[in-house]
Amino acid sequence: MRKNPISASIDFEQDGIQHGFLKLPYSRNDSAWGAIMIPIVQFKCGNGPTALITGANHGDEYEGPVALYNFALRQDIEQFSGRVIVIPAMNYPAFLSATRVSPIDNLNMNRIFPGRADGSVTQQIADYFSNTLLPMTDYVLDIHSGGKTLDFLPFAAYHSLPDREQEARCAAAARAFSAPYFIKLVEDTGGMYDHQVESMGKVFVSTELGGSGTTSPNSIAIAKRGVDNFLIHAGILNGESIESPDGSIELDMNAGESYLLAQHNGLVDPFVNLGDHVKKGDLLARVHSTERTGEKPFEYFAPRDGVILTRHVPSLIKIGDCVFVIAEVVE
Ligand code: ZN
Repeated sequence: MRKNPISASIDFEQDGIQHGFLKLPYSRNDSAWGAIMIPIVQFKCGNGPTALITGANHGDEYEGPVALYNFALRQDIEQFSGRVIVIPAMNYPAFLSATRVSPIDNLNMNRIFPGRADGSVTQQIADYFSNTLLPMTDYVLDIHSGGKTLDFLPFAAYHSLPDREQEARCAAAARAFSAPYFIKLVEDTGGMYDHQVESMGKVFVSTELGGSGTTSPNSIAIAKRGVDNFLIHAGILNGESIESPDGSIELDMNAGESYLLAQHNGLVDPFVNLGDHVKKGDLLARVHSTERTGEKPFEYFAPRDGVILTRHVPSLIKIGDCVFVIAEVVE
C-alpha cells in the first residue's frame, strides 16, 4: 500500500501554538510541482486529551470556517490543557471553489471515508484523517451547515451507536455544544467521516448550523460558542461554558416520513418557515410550473406532525430535491 503523500509542517508533539499546513503534492497544468496547502493550527499545552475540529467538510458551508479562523487567532495557550488540532477547511479545494464537492475529482468528502492513500485528492485527505489525525484524537467536532441548497435550524447532533456507553458520551458532548436544537440522528449513508470517527471509538459531534451558502451573526455566534463549550466539556479548555440563551430544544427524526422530496420541477411558493410547528396534512408549499402561466400549482402537505427542521434553497426545485425535513419535538 502506498504511503499517504500528505505531510504536516507542524510538529504534533510540540507545545505551544503552531500555524502551518498539511501539504498535499498535486501536479497540474498551472503548477507542475505544486501542492495543495491546507491550513492547520495546533494549540498544545502539556498532557491531556486531544480534540480535532473541522469545518468545510463540504466546501459551501461557512459557520465552521468562520468560527475556526477566529479560534485560530487565540493567543491564550495557558488556558489549554491537552491538544486542539483545528482545520478550518477540511475539503480545502472545495472550500476555495465554494462548492459542496471537490472541483478536482468531483468527490464528496463525507461519502468516501476511510479514503485511499493511493486515490485522488479528496480520497488522500480522507485517508490522512483516518490513519494519521484520528488515531491521535479523543474528541472530534465536525461543523456542517446546509450549504447552497439547504437551510437548517441550528442543531448539534450525535448518532445512535451500537455501543451505548460511547453513544452516551457523544450525546453529552453534543448537548454541551449548546446549540438552540439538539438531535439524535439516524443515518445510513456510507462513507461518512462521522462513522469513521465513531468506529474508532471516539467522541463525535456533528452540527448543522444554518445554510443557504452564507452565514449570519447569529449562526456564527452559535458556532463560536459551541467550539468553546465542546472543548470545555472535553476538559481541554479552561473556562465557563455559555448556554444557548433560549435553552436547547431536543428533536428526533425517528420516522422515515421526515424527508419530503419534490415530485415536480418548478418554483417553490412556501407556506411555512424554518422552526414552524406543523400538523399532518398542513399545506407546506405550492410548486408552480415555470413553463406556462395559468396552470394549477402542485401542493405539498406535511406527512407528519413536527417542526420544520430543513428547507430547500434556492427557490427553483427539481424532482428528487429535498424540499423540507420535519423533525419531532421530544417533550
Ligand atoms: Zn455538510
